[in-house]
Amino acid sequence: MSNQTKTNHKCDDVSEVRKHWYDPVYRHFSKKEKKTTTILFGGLTMLHDTLIEAAIRSLGYNIKALDCPDITSLQLGREFGNRGQCNPTYFTVGNLIKYLKQLEREGTSKEEIIKNYVFVTSGSCGPCRFGTYVTEYRKALRDAGFDGFRVLLFQQQEGLKQATGDDNGLELNTTFFTTVLKTVFISDILNIIGYRIRPYEKEPGTTNKVIQQCKDKLYETFLHRKPLMPVLLSCKKEFQKIKVDWTKIKPKVSVIGEFWAMTTEGDGNYRLQQFLESEGAEVEVQPVTAWILFLIWEGRFDTRRRLNLKQFDHGKFGLAGKKPRQRILKLSLADRAVRVMFQFYAKLLGLHYYELPDMDELAKYAHRYYDNHNRGGEGHMEVGKLLLNVIKKKANMTISVKPFGCMPSSGVSDGVQSYITEKYPEAIFLPIETTGDGAVNVYSRVQMMLFKAKQAAQKEYEDAMHAKQKKQHKLNEQVASKHCFKHVVACSAANVIYDH
Ligand code: SF4
Repeated sequence: MSNQTKTNHKCDDVSEVRKHWYDPVYRHFSKKEKKTTTILFGGLTMLHDTLIEAAIRSLGYNIKALDCPDITSLQLGREFGNRGQCNPTYFTVGNLIKYLKQLEREGTSKEEIIKNYVFVTSGSCGPCRFGTYVTEYRKALRDAGFDGFRVLLFQQQEGLKQATGDDNGLELNTTFFTTVLKTVFISDILNIIGYRIRPYEKEPGTTNKVIQQCKDKLYETFLHRKPLMPVLLSCKKEFQKIKVDWTKIKPKVSVIGEFWAMTTEGDGNYRLQQFLESEGAEVEVQPVTAWILFLIWEGRFDTRRRLNLKQFDHGKFGLAGKKPRQRILKLSLADRAVRVMFQFYAKLLGLHYYELPDMDELAKYAHRYYDNHNRGGEGHMEVGKLLLNVIKKKANMTISVKPFGCMPSSGVSDGVQSYITEKYPEAIFLPIETTGDGAVNVYSRVQMMLFKAKQAAQKEYEDAMHAKQKKQHKLNEQVASKHCFKHVVACSAANVIYDH
């Protein structure tokens, strides 16, 4: 494509050549480089990143998950990145630069690093600043002295293609996708189990110890492509051995918000999950699988909306000459398959009574306040999640965490959320913007809201005791052996009583 466009101005009939800026094209990651190239990646939870590393290594790639980004990563990101970027860019590109500088310190030359390493990250056309990430990565890498370092983009809607060209050494076949999906499901499930049990464990640290053991076993299993089932069953047994006290009354806090900010477990969100647990809350995290379901929902929704204009839809991804109903059917089947696989692994690991969000229901609830056509960030999901948390008593409190100035989350969703909290005064909602500094302010705002949430949980517990006519002193021995219970209200201690 030419970077020059000839434009005629009708008014003065003067021809002028305009030079458009374009992103320079770097070397491709070709198939023959597969053996000598190390793929770097990161950005999900530590469990996801570790297991994905093992699974992709088993396919013959040299791959390394980077550590969770910290404050040093943020500082490096700010030093070399443009002003006004979103926190995830600063944290993640800074984290990459941190690692590359470490390689240099250990004796690898810049030339070798540029030649033998690539970084894979996800991207999209936007509509927010997400669309500019790859360019920002390149700018920061160039200014940090790694000009020409390759960044591969995982386009969320289009599969994987290098932002710098189409010839890439990553073979995106069915084996690749099913392997990655499996690790995502299993990591999600282990995280959910961990967050469910840890607040109630009798001996502090036992849940983390079991998770670490399972992580190590699963790493080996994925790496050497051994049978998964026996390992999952042995993890289930270990989880069941953890001694718990379900009579601890803890508010359930649902952490939602911008994808990266709510998913990371480090300084990127002030270690929010850890802080909430230390303050006596049970945390409900959002599984990465829900994001996959959202992408599938987007595909179905958009195709349905465009059906009537099919004959005019001649664009690159247009429906003219295609079979859109078949596409909708395939996407519905994909949604079903994801749910079946997730529940299959959930049962093997001992996670019961856990439902993945129904994306149609979420969209329906949210649409009254946040148009389903609006995209960017989590789209309508943040609004839908808060609504369902309140209406279906899924959480005592909802925290929406997002990078400072996040366009879809702070700019749009939070504006709508204030209307929701007015309509549903029982909603305990706290939006948090992360800048990397000011942790004390964030913690104190969380503590203030948690006070209300604790009262709400206490009330649910007392109502349950009253409804089931339980006696406090006998309760613990009656319910101690339970590890799963049905959802009736948000507070787990109350649910145990209802289910007993
Ligand atoms: S969703 Fe928010 S934080 Fe993420 S790229 Fe868009 S504006 Fe930035």
